[in-house]
Amino acid sequence: MSGRYAPSPSGPLHLGNLRTALLAWLQARLAEQPLILRVEDLDLPRVKPGSSEQILKDLRWLGFNWDEGPDIGGPAAPYEQSARHPQYQQAFQQLLDNDLVYPCYCSRKDIQQVASAPHAHEYSPIYPGTCRDPAKRAAIRQRHPEKTAAWRYRIPTHTIEFKDRIIGHISQSLDREVGDFVIKRADGLFAYQLAVVVDDGMMGVTDVVRGADLLDSTAQQIQLFETLGYPVPSFWHVPLMLDNTGTKLSKRDGAASLDLWKQQGKSAEMLIGHLAFTVGLIDEERAISTLELIQGLTLDLLRDKLINRR
Ligand code: GLU
Repeated sequence: MSGRYAPSPSGPLHLGNLRTALLAWLQARLAEQPLILRVEDLDLPRVKPGSSEQILKDLRWLGFNWDEGPDIGGPAAPYEQSARHPQYQQAFQQLLDNDLVYPCYCSRKDIQQVASAPHAHEYSPIYPGTCRDPAKRAAIRQRHPEKTAAWRYRIPTHTIEFKDRIIGHISQSLDREVGDFVIKRADGLFAYQLAVVVDDGMMGVTDVVRGADLLDSTAQQIQLFETLGYPVPSFWHVPLMLDNTGTKLSKRDGAASLDLWKQQGKSAEMLIGHLAFTVGLIDEERAISTLELIQGLTLDLLRDKLINRR
């Protein structure tokens, strides 16, 4: 039994990321299970130098601790995705051996031209499956002889159902709503969807507490957990923090930075109080330490409060 918090070091954590960290920490501590800190620095082009160290420092400043992580090690080390290429390669080989992945040479334009209607996410159309067919794949490859292949997972035609601990019952059709998704990118990097499953599986994670923006990725991850033979964890998709215009916070949003908070002379306890208050864990905004906060909560209470805010 373990929880985890898995930040991406693409810049300093904003208050929304820190609130998710608080909730992941509370879930693990209230469940009396270890918390794993994993640095998701897989997408190397997006990693900012020094960001990983800063994130760990900020989390410690706020009063969080963890039982396994890049700075303290642990049985499932390494805890940085950039050092876990062999683990991902092994899982990829397993998929390859079972003919569950195929190379894809389609450009973004090829996909957009075919997939005019359904969209899996706001910006990405559902892959129309062109390169599933070896003849069509050969034709596409001829059109882009310079292109290296991305590898896609051959999605089955079934529906994934699960009960999110906060959001409730979710049902997603893999073929109609997800499509054959990328497991290994054309630039040779393994995709987040594969890495996160291999990591959570190998690290024995039983509770995934993360932002609700990842709800849409969960069905494909469940499919991969099952295919790779790992137990499927429980998911707690927690509400995202919005700014005062109702838009979700981004790392470019200076107003939500921890730096600004510190520059205003505010303490870690004031920030914990603010984060806890915005998600309904305390009734009025006041300075409170992580330890004091946890004393007033149980796992059921935490869950009820989050369900009320979803
Ligand atoms: N690394 C992702 C992020 O910072 C979180 C992935 C996850 O929790 O599954 O948004």
